[in-house]
Amino acid sequence: MRMTSRRRLIAGNWKMNGRLESAAALGAGLIEGLANRQDLQALDWLICPPFVHLKTLGDLLEQSRQKIPGLAMKLGAQDVSAAEDGAYTGEISAEMLRDCGCSAVLIGHSERRQYFSESETLIAQKLKRAIDAGFLAVLCVGESEQERGKGLTRAVIDKQIELLLNLWPVSSHQAALGPCATQDLQAQRGVHMALANHQPGVGDTNARAEWASRLVIAYEPVWAIGTGKSASPDDAQQVHAFIRDRLDQAGWPSSSIRILYGGSVKADNAQALFGMPDVDGALVGGASLQATSFLDIGQAAVRHR
Ligand code: PEP
Repeated sequence: MRMTSRRRLIAGNWKMNGRLESAAALGAGLIEGLANRQDLQALDWLICPPFVHLKTLGDLLEQSRQKIPGLAMKLGAQDVSAAEDGAYTGEISAEMLRDCGCSAVLIGHSERRQYFSESETLIAQKLKRAIDAGFLAVLCVGESEQERGKGLTRAVIDKQIELLLNLWPVSSHQAALGPCATQDLQAQRGVHMALANHQPGVGDTNARAEWASRLVIAYEPVWAIGTGKSASPDDAQQVHAFIRDRLDQAGWPSSSIRILYGGSVKADNAQALFGMPDVDGALVGGASLQATSFLDIGQAAVRHR
């Protein structure tokens, strides 16, 4: 029996896979599976299809919610712009995502860090934009194989959550900063990011709790993503506990923040991972592309409720 009130979350990152027809079929298969396997509704579910498939999946989920009461599946995007609106060619804003039925977003996935050079500053700006817009934001962190080999796992993760730890929501401070995202994006082009120096005040507690309810952290060791090599349950637990400690030290309500593990999660290794006290679910790539394998990962989590 789990000694925490954190509800398990099983999230699927579909990456740049599928076509409209196959995405709709996968969505329909998942919804049908959840409708037929009531015990799986004790978990939270999230799917993150490619941008261009979001509206189709959003409509499908909307129709299904009317037929299946309590359907616990959210729709998320794989990225979001740090800006609110305006001349940012190729970007997609949180409000546009909301129009498609999205209420969640992945931020700072290692593929975006690695292939699209997303910096910690930009990731912090996206995170703030997503949370301010009322989204569930899944911040991805994790070390490379080389960093792990040098014993740098904790140092790397510390750096990746440093800006987050300083992103305090204080209305007076935010008011002084003005509407953040667009300004921050401009700030990144030359001026120092003011948010990074934001210090918490006594009145932050409620705002912080609200932020915490919208924040999820996914520990995804880069060497485990798409490789078939998963972190051992003990290793994952140690890193998750480290992240929770850091959140705690910084004054976040760490016991209510969900920390997911990601990296080659499959039904057969999920059960041992979910047996760890600080593993609150999974972020799944490859195995989320088939309804059965994704739902079976959830089944493993149900066994450890
Ligand atoms: C991911 O891309 O977030 C991921 C965890 O992928 P996979 O499950 O395929 O390793």
